[in-house]
Amino acid sequence: MRLFDPHIHMTSRTTDDYRAMAAAGIAALVEPAFWLGQPRTHVGTFDDYFASLVGWERFRASQFGIRHFCTIALNPKEANNPAVADGVMALLPRWLEKDGVVAVGEIGYDDMTPAEDKYLAAQLELAKEHQLPVLVHTPHRDKKRGTERTLAVLREVQFPEPLALIDHNNEETLPLVLRTDCWAGHSIYPDTKMDEARMVELVRRYGPARILVNSAADWGISDPLKVPKTAAAMRAAGIAEADVAQLFWDNPVRFFGQSGRLELAEDKPAADALFEGNSILRGQAAR
Ligand SMILES: [Zn+2]
Repeated sequence: MRLFDPHIHMTSRTTDDYRAMAAAGIAALVEPAFWLGQPRTHVGTFDDYFASLVGWERFRASQFGIRHFCTIALNPKEANNPAVADGVMALLPRWLEKDGVVAVGEIGYDDMTPAEDKYLAAQLELAKEHQLPVLVHTPHRDKKRGTERTLAVLREVQFPEPLALIDHNNEETLPLVLRTDCWAGHSIYPDTKMDEARMVELVRRYGPARILVNSAADWGISDPLKVPKTAAAMRAAGIAEADVAQLFWDNPVRFFGQSGRLELAEDKPAADALFEGNSILRGQAAR
């Protein structure tokens, strides 16, 4: 079965990860633009980062037969940095036109500051203008209140709920999201927060509709194989094969397909392919 990781930061992963993901059945992924851990002090570094998501990472993934899509946005944390926030907003319309950009994201709340309110609302408007879905991060601290506030803002700006993916849910927030027409993402982590067993329980309880599962792997302690591992845990727990297929392929395809840009046909490069004149094969050629 083909698997889809709808939230993973490949910028911070190696070719070993790409190879292991492909071997485990991951055929497509979405890489949301995010906070890199090190605060950025220039608008230009965002421009280069967005270029790497749209071009370089997509090329890297293609060497392993994985379809790479991304989402572009001013992330919640750096919405609080007045030195870059408006400059990044001014870049977005150009990037949101690009092939492979399947949503505006990650947007949402980190600390729930007035600046975050402002840029969340502004980016929801931008998504409407570009007729794109949104990928919404929910805060790790005070998650319930952050989720409630996010859903309230979506209603205030009359954002179409079927175009919103609310991410990083847990037992407390999933029922709030399922009460709306939004989609609900879940990030499976190695040691903390949501794990495979808890995810199985949520699917047993609520079924597979509008539910997505991702690894959210990044620079931190995380596991780029959490999608295949959670799919295996679902099967081991007796979840029906059709439900597993819905969770790990059909749902992300349906959600991000709303962008009109989820082109899933393979674009495998030639073994000697160059990206902007730069070979990255370096002796360890793709399969
Ligand atoms: Zn993320």
